[in-house]
Amino acid sequence: MSEEKEIELFTPGCLGTCWYGKYHYFEPWAGCGHDCPYCYARFRAPVKVSLSRLGTPFEEPRTLYPEEELLRRTAERAASGEISILKLCRYTDIFTPSFVGSGLSLKLLDALTGPASRISRVIITTKGLPDKDIIDLIRSRPAKFSYNAAVRPGTAVSFDRALLPAGERLAAAAAIQAGGVLTTVHMDPFVPGFDDESAALKPFLEGLKKLGLNRVMFSYLLLSGEMAAPLEKELPPAVFAALKDNYDLAESRQYLPRQADTVYWAIRPEVKRASVEKTAAMLNDMGFDFVLCSLKNTPGLDTTKFKGTKLCDGKFYA
Ligand code: SF4
Repeated sequence: MSEEKEIELFTPGCLGTCWYGKYHYFEPWAGCGHDCPYCYARFRAPVKVSLSRLGTPFEEPRTLYPEEELLRRTAERAASGEISILKLCRYTDIFTPSFVGSGLSLKLLDALTGPASRISRVIITTKGLPDKDIIDLIRSRPAKFSYNAAVRPGTAVSFDRALLPAGERLAAAAAIQAGGVLTTVHMDPFVPGFDDESAALKPFLEGLKKLGLNRVMFSYLLLSGEMAAPLEKELPPAVFAALKDNYDLAESRQYLPRQADTVYWAIRPEVKRASVEKTAAMLNDMGFDFVLCSLKNTPGLDTTKFKGTKLCDGKFYA
């Protein structure tokens, strides 16, 4: 059973997620216009219930409340003093295109970090593209934000069709970093056996260096039976077969306690080890400051013994 029945506007971080609940999550709407074929959010129970109540498909996000009420509720909780660190978002993307376009994303960020807010820090992780007004707002309050651009190397596993170009998203991250904001490139989802290939990873990392982006985190693609179906439709058959082969379909793991809808296949331990060590070696050689996401580990694999990498303790990007 999931802990929440429906998506809630603000939720405390739950046991098992990174940094063990010392933050809250913010979810202003259900659904996400990026519609990534690997997105696990669409299969989470609270998302399904909220989408059904709001009468919208996942790829057409709808706000949990009418806009005025959403902004009022957001500003009230931000001013309450109950929230210290806020992560955006678990089940959607704050820069889903329709709400960047309508100006709602900007208004929400303003409400969360404006003078009346008592939130100390807002952590954005996004596959989206903020517009100029949003970038200016973030740059004007650098201590209030941590910015994480989720961008991965281009490989045969090409499933980012609905996202805006990686170059534009990285340029936005560089502009935000230039404003003094703690900025990290999150290689997510990192696809074992593909994204770690030197031919893809090296030019990608060289591109980050050129933009002055020196902080990297990587976390591996989660996969389950129900997630495999949209991926199979999206990818060429040989690529899908090779990708699936890197996972042990007989070995599943529940990632979050008391949330039975978070069961995913494990990456084969030997594949994971080779991938982590190859990636870490390149990041070290190129002088990056980096961590591996510690949440998405493989059962039976002692991740304390990976060579050359450190696991995220939840504070790297906070
Ligand atoms: S951007 Fe994130 S929340 Fe949105 S569809 Fe992609 S993975 Fe899901």
